[in-house]
Amino acid sequence: MNSDGNPQVIDEELVSFSPADGTVVDRFPIAGAEAVDAAVRTARDAQKWWWELGHAGRRQRLLRLRGEVSRRMPELLALMHAETGKTLSDARTEVATALEHLNWAPKHARRVLGPRRVRTSLVLVDHAAHLEYRPYGVVGVIGPWNYPVLTPLGSIVYALAAGNAVVFKPSEYTPAVGQWLADAFAQIVERPVLQVVQGGGETGAALCRSGVDKLAFTGSTATAKKVYATCAEKMTPVVLECGGKDALIVDHDADVDAAADSALWGGLFNAGQTCIGIERVYVVESVADRFLERLVTRAGELRVGEAPDDQVGPITMPRQIDVIAGHIADAAERGGTFALGGPESVRPPYVHPTIIVDVPEDARAMREETFGPVLIVNRVPDADEALTRANALPYGLGGAVFARSAGMRLARGMKSGMTTVNSTLAFAGMPRLPFGGVGESGFGRIHGEDGLREFAYAKSIARRRLPELFPLLSFKRAEKHNRLIDRLMRIRHR
Ligand code: NAD
Repeated sequence: MNSDGNPQVIDEELVSFSPADGTVVDRFPIAGAEAVDAAVRTARDAQKWWWELGHAGRRQRLLRLRGEVSRRMPELLALMHAETGKTLSDARTEVATALEHLNWAPKHARRVLGPRRVRTSLVLVDHAAHLEYRPYGVVGVIGPWNYPVLTPLGSIVYALAAGNAVVFKPSEYTPAVGQWLADAFAQIVERPVLQVVQGGGETGAALCRSGVDKLAFTGSTATAKKVYATCAEKMTPVVLECGGKDALIVDHDADVDAAADSALWGGLFNAGQTCIGIERVYVVESVADRFLERLVTRAGELRVGEAPDDQVGPITMPRQIDVIAGHIADAAERGGTFALGGPESVRPPYVHPTIIVDVPEDARAMREETFGPVLIVNRVPDADEALTRANALPYGLGGAVFARSAGMRLARGMKSGMTTVNSTLAFAGMPRLPFGGVGESGFGRIHGEDGLREFAYAKSIARRRLPELFPLLSFKRAEKHNRLIDRLMRIRHR
């Protein structure tokens, strides 16, 4: 096992390792600023061809890519498992979700983005109004390692469907998965409309400076702030999908059994390394004991390890293990009690399911992303108190509510871009629902109609269609015309 954690730069190459056993998965040349700039130039040429193909041509190719990914799914799952350690089951869920987007975006791009006539206004009735959404040109996509297929494709597919070319920098922890996606695309599409540049933060910063027309970033809030600042140098617009600290609320009338099942899955899916993973649970006092009993029993039955039917895989980034251990220790020092596990849960490269109860709200584990299979459960007197606590952080990514009567009210009151009611994480798999956060979880949207529009700019065209009724847009306007405008405005807006 490489002692400093994966990945490493060896002989100027990026080498990715399996987090489970330390074996080398693959190695890639690192792209410096020149290579990044060259990729962007190539993309700019390819984009012209891609745009001229029209929506039908792009749709046909993207749907063939969908077929290619689904046919070669076992190969992709094995690679994801090797490079991130995630279980095959978790990898399957991720790819299945990504395929839904690969199916939806190309089929709806023309409807959402294509040219349309819109209504004009009373005084400009002699003009026609045309609206269409045009691609930015070249979009840079920077991805994280935790969902190396779903997350970047959430930007890439929508950007491509909107008519852009893409230069993609995968996480340095998952370069092979990123390369696999670009290679699969190259099998289908004749020109380099999707390219990959490999490397770490410096390569990402070079992509921000390369003159791309838009930058889609997914990763931590700390890095997002750097990306935002770098992109500001050239006024490059950004979409930022960042971290979170999502809460799940269990109300007094909730189906407690279902809530425990979902809290566990929402919190420990992908070994807890999920941006929209449940990290905090607020359960109303009257049902807290029942909820905890079910949660702890089920969590204790989860199988941790590398075997094909294991349910919780290793922690992908070795240095994250120290963060998780730190949060567990801090929660314990501040008076939290362990309902399952404890400091001994941390057994690198694994962290065993850990449930901590009644942790003060200012503990690190309550305020910062833990990104491990750790759930904090705090009792609250009622659901409104739960909502106040859920909304108390600067993050606002996702969240969940379990309730019978107040489900939708609580969901609407949650300060987050997405919330599930009586379920967890479901919004990510619905291509019509926009995905993104508020506050320190970022801004802009991927997925859905908003996701398509995120990668296009509105182009408005006002076209004279009739001879001028009176000289509204001209210095020829006389006093009688002003009186006519006054009369019209009184009739219309009185
Ligand atoms: P990270 O911020 O460390 O890295 C993300 C990407 O940014 C990587 O490709 C990295 O090489 C690149 N990068 C690093 N420094 C850079 C710089 N100065 N300029 C440009 N690029 C730079 O995040 P991570 O550890 O890879 O991913 C985990 C984080 O991502 C968590 O915070 C998680 O919540 C978040 N995430 C968010 C979403 C979402 O949709 N909101 C989805 C998945 C993950």
